[in-house]
Amino acid sequence: MYNKKMHALGSNRSVIRELFEFGKIYAQEKGADKVFDFSLGNPNVPAPNCVKEALKELIEYPDSTYIHGYTSAQGDKAVLEKVANDIKNRFNVDMTSDLIYMTVGAAGALTITLNALSNENDEFIVLAPFFPEYKVFIASANAKSVVVQPKDDMHVDFLSLTSAITERTKGIIINSPNNPSGVVYTENEIKSLCAILGAKSTEYGHPIFLISDEPYREIVYDGVEVPYLMNYYENTIVCYSYSKSLSLPGERIGYIAVSPKCIEKNNIYYAICGAGRSLGYVCAPNLFQKVIAKCIGATGDIEAYKQNRDLLYENLTAYGYDCIKPNGAFYLFVKSPEPDAKAFSEKAKNYGLLLVPSDSFGIEGYVRISYCVSNDMIKRSLPYFKKLMEEYL
Ligand code: PLP
Repeated sequence: MYNKKMHALGSNRSVIRELFEFGKIYAQEKGADKVFDFSLGNPNVPAPNCVKEALKELIEYPDSTYIHGYTSAQGDKAVLEKVANDIKNRFNVDMTSDLIYMTVGAAGALTITLNALSNENDEFIVLAPFFPEYKVFIASANAKSVVVQPKDDMHVDFLSLTSAITERTKGIIINSPNNPSGVVYTENEIKSLCAILGAKSTEYGHPIFLISDEPYREIVYDGVEVPYLMNYYENTIVCYSYSKSLSLPGERIGYIAVSPKCIEKNNIYYAICGAGRSLGYVCAPNLFQKVIAKCIGATGDIEAYKQNRDLLYENLTAYGYDCIKPNGAFYLFVKSPEPDAKAFSEKAKNYGLLLVPSDSFGIEGYVRISYCVSNDMIKRSLPYFKKLMEEYL
């Protein structure tokens, strides 16, 4: 009667959503101040002022179709130019507007890109720990995901990566700054990765595409640089989103940028347009295309996330937790003090602490703490983190 695969996807709630729902019930029973919800990656930092200013200005625009009508499928021409210029100016890439495609967030960008590239039996490599939806997106593009485990510090294990690439490898998804580890891949790491992809492309006689999923690009600390992958590898496609940098996750706005050096760039771009069409996206939300065009270069308050990171990292390590110090994004990846991260997450619930076990991120034995929450909630949660750890000492 209905599609079994889709039914399974719809009826099996993600672990993150389960925790979120549990938190609501716990809050009713014990009081809202007794729940410390670190489950979701929903930015708590407000959108920068330019978003409000842009909305006020746009809403008064006399021509309603200008802000509420369909745009071209690939996006409003003036918006595409603004985005292309932004990439050109910030990263010194010879970007043009005909290689940009506006999307419904990074999720839209990824599903379109994967569908645009994928043929039957293709494989896409994902580097653990990874955003759980990658597996869903790859499967829905009729391709197969191949998971590569990281080194202990969550950086790339090049030996494992090299042996995972086969003649069926169509591409690899890179996410740096990373959700869930907060790790930012170094320039040397990117160079090594690109050298492997280049050599394997030559060996198998076809390109292996680098899909850079970068919704956290601007959320970095301590002056860490995030290499722009188009400057290191020709066959790069960037999937960007304003969900995190401008705190606009519900507005669903992002883009795809095809490298001007990409093989058959125009045909790849046509395939992107075709995939967007076949998936029924029609066009990205018009009003927010115009908003982001007016807010190019702005971000939310990154310093607030840094304060949260420092508060959590310093206290949790002092209590005995083993944490990877994040250079970016707004997640702390903490080693579970017992091998089974799900069991640890269950124990944490007894203290009202909602921590996501790492299994759905493709790796065992960790929990993710989303610290895009209020600083006050983190402060109040600390005694509970301490008590939780004391169970293991
Ligand atoms: N990729 C990563 C790594 C993410 O963390 C997220 C959202 O949390 C997405 C993609 C999806 O982003 P968007 O809300 O822009 O679709």
